Amino acid sequence: MAALCRGRHRWKRTSSLHVLTRTLTGNYDYDLVVIGGGSGGLACSKEAAQLGQKVAVLDYVEPSVQGTKWGLGGTCVNVGCIPKKLMHQAALLGTAVKDAKKYGWQISGPICHDWATMAEAIQNHVRSLNWGHRVQLQDKKVKYLNIKGSLVDEHTVKGLTKAGKEMTLTAKDIVIATGGRPNYPTNIPGAMEHGITSDDIFWLKKSPGKTLVVGASYVALECAGFLTGIGLDTTVMVRSIALRGFDQQMAGLVTDYMDAYGTKFAWKCVPKSVEKLSSGALQVTWTDTHTGDEHKDTYDSVLWAVGRAPETKALGLDKLGVELKKETGKIILGSDESTSVPNIYAFGDIGEGRPELTPTAIKAGKLLARRLTGHSTELMNYDNVPTTVFTPLEYACVGLSEEEAEKRHGKDGIEVYHAFYKPLEFIVAERDASQCYLKVVCERGGQQKILGLHFTGPNAGEVTQGFALGFQCGATYSHLLQTVGIHPTCAEEVIKVNITKRSGLDATVTGC
Ligand code: FAD
Ligand code: NAP
Repeated sequence: MAALCRGRHRWKRTSSLHVLTRTLTGNYDYDLVVIGGGSGGLACSKEAAQLGQKVAVLDYVEPSVQGTKWGLGGTCVNVGCIPKKLMHQAALLGTAVKDAKKYGWQISGPICHDWATMAEAIQNHVRSLNWGHRVQLQDKKVKYLNIKGSLVDEHTVKGLTKAGKEMTLTAKDIVIATGGRPNYPTNIPGAMEHGITSDDIFWLKKSPGKTLVVGASYVALECAGFLTGIGLDTTVMVRSIALRGFDQQMAGLVTDYMDAYGTKFAWKCVPKSVEKLSSGALQVTWTDTHTGDEHKDTYDSVLWAVGRAPETKALGLDKLGVELKKETGKIILGSDESTSVPNIYAFGDIGEGRPELTPTAIKAGKLLARRLTGHSTELMNYDNVPTTVFTPLEYACVGLSEEEAEKRHGKDGIEVYHAFYKPLEFIVAERDASQCYLKVVCERGGQQKILGLHFTGPNAGEVTQGFALGFQCGATYSHLLQTVGIHPTCAEEVIKVNITKRSGLDATVTGC
């Protein structure tokens, strides 16, 4: 029967008889169909294919509100980690060029930055990654389909091409890894019409110019950081606090550094409207919630960095009874990434309560593939996930914030070791190191198990990745003391830390 041929897509031919026959025989087009070719979906599909499964991955990018489009690879590759880190690097280079003069480099004339050159180079790199992903899928014999997928039943996916053509695929298992997209505020006139998001900023051909960034979490601070760093007049509008969920002492250091670096902050302010003037400038009106006063200013760009929403609406999940968390719209998952419907799994940014990070999506995807193919029973461990905020002064952490440790163990149940240190590189360059700081939050009793590690400074992510391994192995404060440093580095300051917060002693590191 044609409908039971494996590997052939049937255009508009799903019938109830077909579904019944298929269920009885267990014969499908694919062993696994993955909807979403981002960090997680690609990792899961490649792993399953390598383990002998017949796999298809569907990836389709709905253009942003402003019409920006991109290729295969999902958020991280196209509109997230990769272009963000490269723009962050562009900004760091600006600081390095200024430092270079102090180190004897003769640089004549003013230092200025050209957006178009940076953007073109980064966009070309992203395109090469898009191509690389296609080649990898081909090499690993994963069928890539540039179609928008939705669920018909627990074994059937309907795909829609850009041209509106429909196709149906059947699979033993279906994985949803469709990620999320940036939010726009719905109650602010002009917000959507005139504003951009992180889906657009990395693909602009022209400099965004004077920019208002609304929001105060990862995306907002990272974008505002690199925009300031390349010389643009940048303001961050914060409605409450910066970096909610992070250790607030560290968040304060990050924003203090940005403030000194040139980023402007409008604290406790909420935007009211965005209007395009005849000059083309965007006039933003906002309210200072502290005083109740209304203010206006004009910008070339308004970047909304007010959170992200899951891509679940178009998937037809409600018809199948896939349970979603009402407040967030994300899929409720078991520890094995199972949804409430058998044979349908999900992970990555679409999963309720999951960290919205690339490495967790990749690892969860690979582990799921191994479990689905019977090669392992290992579950993803979402505890102790390290992360870095790539702001001008980077901040990396693993484990609990001081506030959270205090909440769980009591103020007297924790010991916080801390240090203000000066990176050697800053000294000759005469850079202010007031916000270069680290703290190790430990249990107070016994071996002083480390509960949280926080670090601001150059290459914070590189420094913290290794410590995250120690953390995963259950490191204690005495393990830190037993570790020999690498000199001269910023990372060695972590293993040298010896002043407790409780002592009230000056935590400034002096000498080697
Ligand atoms: P995505 O990578 O979002 O992939 C989902 C894919 O599915 C997309 O290609 C989407 O178009 C596609 N899709 C959606 N619906 C359908 C459908 N119906 N049919 C077919 N395809 C569909 N994380 C870090 O770890 N480090 C960072 O430095 C970092 N920086 C970031 C910076 C920014 C600006 C942003 C926005 C995010 C950043 N992240 C970072 C987060 C990281 O990008 C995400 O956590 C990660 O990409 C999530 O992977 P995913 O596989 O769940 O989804
Ligand atoms: P987010 O963490 O959800 O933060 C949203 C921010 O916008 C908060 O500061 C919030 O303020 C503010 N906000 C929300 N609605 C607003 C409104 N109407 N007006 C003004 N401000 C508003 O979102 P995100 O920064 O987009 O990041 C999403 C996820 O992507 C993160 O959780 C992270 O996991 C991932 N990411 C990771 C990296 C990295 O690893 N380096 C980088 C970028 C993104 P309140 O605090 O007041 O709610």
